[in-house]
Amino acid sequence: MRRPAFASLAVVAVLAGTACVSTAPASRTSAAGASETRPPHVPTDELHWLRASAEYRAITIQTFRAALAAAEKLSAGKAAGSWGVSVDADETIIDNSGYEVELQRKGLVHTDPAWVEWVRRRGRPAVPGAAAFLSGVQKLGGRVAVVTNTAQSLCADVAANLDSVALPHDILVCRPDDAGDRKESRWESIANGTARPDLGRVEILVWVGDNIQDFPGQSQSLRDEPEAAFEDFGVRFFALPNPIYGTWEKSLPR
Ligand SMILES: [Mg+2]
Repeated sequence: MRRPAFASLAVVAVLAGTACVSTAPASRTSAAGASETRPPHVPTDELHWLRASAEYRAITIQTFRAALAAAEKLSAGKAAGSWGVSVDADETIIDNSGYEVELQRKGLVHTDPAWVEWVRRRGRPAVPGAAAFLSGVQKLGGRVAVVTNTAQSLCADVAANLDSVALPHDILVCRPDDAGDRKESRWESIANGTARPDLGRVEILVWVGDNIQDFPGQSQSLRDEPEAAFEDFGVRFFALPNPIYGTWEKSLPR
């Protein structure tokens, strides 16, 4: 199991369970095998929108600005270092659209080996607005916790990548190789201080993510609930768009 590239970073494995060999984000649809291909074509409309539109950048920047304002409001009166925010990694603060472009132009589909090769390049850019948000939280006295479903075996690569694109963070919690994609136990490890014992307990006040499961207790079934069930969104939950992949893919038949 690889470790982060620098000693001050705590990378924890807090879940135990049955064996799971996938190294890709657990929410990602895995292809049946590396030999599966599709006809080469230009990037799909949703991928082109994400990479080419001013609107996507506006949405991510405005979302992070709103999240920072919420963090400032909710942390009022709290001691520096006692509170923090949780951010997902992929398609929240790290942009993997280049991976999708490479696959689509080659007529290939996502596979675990292709994903591992991509992550190990450590060259993924930041999502617009993310760096300002993370540094802003730290200036307010908050901790930044990156809670990702990237496998523990790739956590050092994630840490190095975050550093290389100036995405500051205090805690990085990857997905143990034998665990599922729910993040509740990992958030608990941050709250009870086991994620990074030298920092102690950290009360998470704000969550940012591109998947509904980046928010405590949430799932795709929220879609069928009345608007009142979304009351935390825009207050302490801040969602970013990901039209490329996610747990939404399996939530309804096309
Ligand atoms: Mg994500």
